[in-house]
Amino acid sequence: MGELYLDDLRDKTHRGLTGRALAGASAGGLPYGYVVTSVGQRAIDEAQAAVVRRIFSEFLEGHSPRTIAARLNHDRIPSPRESTWAMTAIRGDVRRGLGILANPIYAGQQIWNRSRWVKHPDSGRRVRQERPQGEWVITEHPELAVIDLGTWNAAQARMGALGKASGVPGPGRPPRHLLSGLLRCGGCGGPMVVVDKYNYACSTAKDRGTCDNPVRLRRSVAEERLLAGIREEILTEEAFRRFELAAASALKSSAPSLDVAHRRVADAQRVRDNVMRAIREGIITPSTKAELVAAERAAQDAEVALRHAQQFQPSQVLPRAREAWRRIATSLADSARDVPAARAAIRELLGQNARVINKNGDLFAEIAVPSDALTNMVAGAGFEPATFGL
Ligand SMILES: [Zn+2]
Repeated sequence: MGELYLDDLRDKTHRGLTGRALAGASAGGLPYGYVVTSVGQRAIDEAQAAVVRRIFSEFLEGHSPRTIAARLNHDRIPSPRESTWAMTAIRGDVRRGLGILANPIYAGQQIWNRSRWVKHPDSGRRVRQERPQGEWVITEHPELAVIDLGTWNAAQARMGALGKASGVPGPGRPPRHLLSGLLRCGGCGGPMVVVDKYNYACSTAKDRGTCDNPVRLRRSVAEERLLAGIREEILTEEAFRRFELAAASALKSSAPSLDVAHRRVADAQRVRDNVMRAIREGIITPSTKAELVAAERAAQDAEVALRHAQQFQPSQVLPRAREAWRRIATSLADSARDVPAARAAIRELLGQNARVINKNGDLFAEIAVPSDALTNMVAGAGFEPATFGL
């Protein structure tokens, strides 16, 4: 019923928005460069429109979206989201018409109905599906144009050429490099990503120009040393023993007591048995049914608590930890061939806390895990079976 209702509502909403698009009103969010007037129509915001024109003209002068973002940030011009400009907000996504250089509204054209959200048949997740061009609704809004059509066409041509030349990765492609995004910049905390064939560097410095950390970390060095460090210091039998000891003692002091859990189950069962006996002996009062329901629920809750307590006993947890340890070691051993698995293993071990720092000219990576992190992990809520991928 709910599904049918939502489908119907979605169709109605969609029809309504298409009607509004055709009538010239805004469908969807308000793009950068415009304000909504008192009667709900869009109008040009002159200050932002000037920024849009600047972006198009710098792009046509030969600057890359990355450089344009850095220059805007340098001039302290706030981005559409009132923060700093990112390369992606400039370049955008031509297919979806998002991003300054890709949105035809700046040439006075609105394209509505480019895509729809459909349920993926396997996962049930809602995914975006592009509609065929014939279903697009294109409306002309000359009063909203901030650049002329010639400028727009020239920018689209240059973007097409750039896209082909640079092989710009599409959205959602999984990282192909071992440490992309797992290392953090020691200057700004932003992710370090692969910037060229050989190096990792701060993505904030690269895309936004608001971080001035010039550090280039050679991929081969970073990957070899980090993996060697993990193998020699973390994935050793001795390290595992230390982990096991710490985990066992932390569990001992923080795991729910099995005795208490067993006693709770016994108590709850006794109460339930008493109610049952009373019923068999014919003692039925107006509250008997409620008492029975409550006793049943208490017995069930106690059973759940007992199972939970059993899962947290060292004898249950430690073999699973051992298994996880092995899985991580195996994934890392194969790091060259199976990058996603190795990345997952590194994230599991280190989180995203390896900060790359350039102190006194010496480049090094610091794994910012506090010394009591292990105990915290074991004692805290983080030590659910899921922590070990189980
Ligand atoms: Zn940085």
